[in-house]
Amino acid sequence: MKRIFLFVLIVVTSFNTDAQIKKSTNLIDKKVKALLAKMTLEEKVGQMTQVTLGVVSDSPDGTINPAGLKKALQEYHVGSILNVTGHAVSIQQWHKILTNIADEANNTRLKIPVIYGLDGIHGQTYTLDATLFPQNIGMAATRNIELAKAITKVAAKELRASGVRWNFATVLDIGRQPLWSRFPETYGEDVFIGKTMGAAVIKAYEEDGLHNISAVASCMKHYLGYSASRTGKDRTPIYLPEIEMREYYLPQFKEAVKAGASTVMVNSSEINGVPVHASKYLLTDVLRKELGFEGLIVTDWEDIKRVHSRHNIAATPREAVAMCINAGIDMSMVPSDFSFYDLLIEAVKLKEVPMSRIDDAVRKILVLKYNLGLFDNPYPEKEAVANFGKPEYQTLALDAAHEAMTLLKNQNNILPLSKTSKVLVAGPGAQSLSTLNGCWSYTWQGKEEEWYPADSKTILQTITAKLGVANVVSSSGKGFDNPMNYDVFALSAAAVNVDAIILCLGENAYAESPGNIADLALDENQVALAKAAVATGKPVILVLTEGRPRFITNLEPAMKGILIAYWSGKKTGEAIADVLFGDYNPNGILPFSYPRSMGEVVMYDRKPTEEIREVFNDDIHTGYNPLYPFGHGLSYTSFEYSELKLNTTQLTGNENLTITVNVKNTGARAGKHTVELYSRDMYASITPNMKRLRAFQKIDLKAGESKMVTFQLNKDDLAFVNAQLKTVTEPGDFKVMVGTLSADFKYN
Ligand code: BGC
Repeated sequence: MKRIFLFVLIVVTSFNTDAQIKKSTNLIDKKVKALLAKMTLEEKVGQMTQVTLGVVSDSPDGTINPAGLKKALQEYHVGSILNVTGHAVSIQQWHKILTNIADEANNTRLKIPVIYGLDGIHGQTYTLDATLFPQNIGMAATRNIELAKAITKVAAKELRASGVRWNFATVLDIGRQPLWSRFPETYGEDVFIGKTMGAAVIKAYEEDGLHNISAVASCMKHYLGYSASRTGKDRTPIYLPEIEMREYYLPQFKEAVKAGASTVMVNSSEINGVPVHASKYLLTDVLRKELGFEGLIVTDWEDIKRVHSRHNIAATPREAVAMCINAGIDMSMVPSDFSFYDLLIEAVKLKEVPMSRIDDAVRKILVLKYNLGLFDNPYPEKEAVANFGKPEYQTLALDAAHEAMTLLKNQNNILPLSKTSKVLVAGPGAQSLSTLNGCWSYTWQGKEEEWYPADSKTILQTITAKLGVANVVSSSGKGFDNPMNYDVFALSAAAVNVDAIILCLGENAYAESPGNIADLALDENQVALAKAAVATGKPVILVLTEGRPRFITNLEPAMKGILIAYWSGKKTGEAIADVLFGDYNPNGILPFSYPRSMGEVVMYDRKPTEEIREVFNDDIHTGYNPLYPFGHGLSYTSFEYSELKLNTTQLTGNENLTITVNVKNTGARAGKHTVELYSRDMYASITPNMKRLRAFQKIDLKAGESKMVTFQLNKDDLAFVNAQLKTVTEPGDFKVMVGTLSADFKYN
């Protein structure tokens, strides 16, 4: 009886919420329709115009220039503003800026509020003392969806507390080109992680309801194929066959649309010679019609102009505007002038862009503003401020950084080191905060450490806190680029009385094009340091803080331990020290294949002919030969898998396949562990992948404890894109794999 009652209650409540949502959607539609009817062409085009803060401020702290603001809002009817003029500012300063903007908007004829957008890529980048978490690449290493959701909710709250209701996150581009300077912003090379974690994050931003002070509008970035640049250089041409695009690049966006993303930002680059901003096929046919996306499509930085000035497919700036708007763009991140506004008005008057397209775009913008509650209250919400900087966010930042830590090598269990050991902490990463946080950290590039919170800790500080001043020496100076860091003689001299060297190498922060590199080799001065460290004869533990894999192939054999920490935010230093000295048992696993050399950049989900190297009559199976494979990561305990079982060996139609496996912690300490389930389609009409990740679960086991882990798959989880570009599951033989165990089944 109780159960029936509960069921009825659930049904009634869900009907109620559905009905409520429908009612409020209808109400908003009505309001938008009424408002649209009152708007002039100029006011409509103004709504589609987004400018950068620098247009209305002359100051590095974003203080508004009233005349500039008046011009933007009164003369050009600007609907959206973004970015900072230089660096993070205080929450009070954000409130001033946004209050000035809301006041001015209130003085316009129709009082349409302005929507402000920022890049809170791994936390709220641009508010001083905001909590920064691991970059997406580090979150992917955690394989912990709940954790990814939890940090997202904090990012949302800290943005909203600052008065900002639109976050240009999350990045759904897949990381299959490790040279790409935005690799750290990706969830790595795998589609399944990208789509599950990406969609969960999008949902976490928005699910409380956009009018709520704990939510912000999310943005799916950067539709589509942005990461696939042929040379790895940011914003350079992509050549992407449609079959590959649909197999590896589109699924993340498809899932994020389903998860309720309100907005999307477009790839600045071109695919097969077509700038994505001008691609009606990708924006309207695929994104709108096929994926059913109903939200707002915004350009990336200056990209409509560039369709003329860089891509050269439009002979004039106005032609570029008409092309992109007709392709489906709703809002232009112009961002530094009002040229878009003038040109679009001209284009409409000349009938190069139909009025229906303008109305359609403005409708989407207004709906978003209504949903965000901006028409009710365009000002920073006072009650949201209490959600900023809560002490528990620090704990969460540490949890996230801990779970990102990925132990790649631990020769003869040299780690954890004893807390009574004497160590040398050396290398450019020893006293740098920017190499722990990376891009979008208080500034765009993340390099200017004066904006970091005062209580941020370097690796040297966290290790010293653990071992005591007497047990730690360093040959490094402050800041990644400090020449002291590269003095090999100082390193050798400092190593004389220590038990071990902790060598901190990697990459200083970078974002977008400034992070372009020509190859993945580690800088020569870092290689020289590593050689000098090894030459001392002391055991060397390599700590890598980097956004993408840099080659360590030649150094690796001489390293006793290797920990990759990625760029894991505020608590990276603490997390590294905790792992090195045994206060935390590492459990991160690689979200990409750590390559051995430029000629060995092969993804884990390789094709059979990438696996088999044909050497005359001999087939050699070494085609996938990274330095460390996708999914690799060590623990201070050990786990054993047994009893892999399927509920059936004949899967039919839409039935579920249930897979169980027993996992035991066979070591002496508790540990978290990710169990990954892969599948292989043995024969298919398109060459199948050697393996594909289909599910993962993160578990926590005490020493000696076992757990039966259960996965469910159905035929859609095994699908691939065929030659007709359809996603299908063909009948035939399949294999599932967990660790070294595998089991076969047939699908028909
Ligand atoms: C980046 C975007 C970002 C935008 C606004 C662009 O350069 O590609 O990811 O959202 O700037 O800051």
